[in-house]
Amino acid sequence: MSDITTVTVLGTGVLGSQIAFQTAFHGFTVTAYDINDDVLAKAKERFAGLAAVYEKEVQEAAGGKAQEALTNLRYSSDLAQAVKDADLVIEAVPENLDLKRELYTKLGELAPAKTIFATNSSTLLPSDLAGYTGRQDKFLALHFANHVWVNNTAEVMGTTKTDPEVYRAVVDFATAIGMVPIEIKKEKAGYVLNSLLVPLLDAAAELLVDGIADPETIDKTWRIGTGAPKGPFEIFDIVGLTTAYNISSVAGPKQQEFAAYLKENYIDKGKLGVATGEGFYRY
Ligand code: NAD
Repeated sequence: MSDITTVTVLGTGVLGSQIAFQTAFHGFTVTAYDINDDVLAKAKERFAGLAAVYEKEVQEAAGGKAQEALTNLRYSSDLAQAVKDADLVIEAVPENLDLKRELYTKLGELAPAKTIFATNSSTLLPSDLAGYTGRQDKFLALHFANHVWVNNTAEVMGTTKTDPEVYRAVVDFATAIGMVPIEIKKEKAGYVLNSLLVPLLDAAAELLVDGIADPETIDKTWRIGTGAPKGPFEIFDIVGLTTAYNISSVAGPKQQEFAAYLKENYIDKGKLGVATGEGFYRY
């Protein structure tokens, strides 16, 4: 297996921009692909914003390294051109099964035979997509968490058809870009992180809507009782209450009750979490 040196990231939204920048920051040449040049112009602004964040929050970014990362980025809205030299393509387009399948069908035809494809999908299994890639042995999930420069897990999850050497190459790549690779042995919805986090957040929401305890008490209990740095409602504020609302409103009855509670008490009042300066807490 040849080493991965040239990377293309599909989608320059919240996660795609972070993945591309983190990869460029670690010295790789990265092509950022998105649907048109207007979106790519916005992506350039996102990257400049990320360079500023890294300068503040990442120790090794001092001395111009974050600005240097910007010079490792290329931009393209032409899929064939974007992937023609790629050793690895990381896909971070919207979480929509049909859209992703359509994209992999095109990508499978356009990318060289050597190219590995990795999906950053949070909720789909790689086997939902593998059959559309034209290269099931070179396809797997590489799942990043929001704010990749601090929350630097990279969950690596293949299908039964993923070549173990490809899996290993992607684990090594994740390490090379400063991530902590989390090796997952079997397909599992939610990977490891969300398999742990979602039930915790659901349980906290239930305690709140059932009137058992308030957010401060629930968080305090979790922090003191386990030594965790943050409680579930502090985590909700970081994730963003709109995301929490969107997920809860299509889940079970208890979660829907929580969604209604969030809407009435927070979202309708513009309290969306850390991003707006107030959610369950003030920032
Ligand atoms: P986003 O909506 O912020 O960005 C999606 C980007 O994809 C946009 O720039 C959009 O223009 C582009 N796009 C749309 N159609 C495209 C196409 N056909 N080809 C190329 N680009 C296209 O989404 P996001 O939050 O960055 O999520 C992207 C993926 O990452 C999803 O699969 C999601 O599950 C996953 N993810 C998101 C988070 C998160 O916290 N946001 C965390 C982990 C994983």
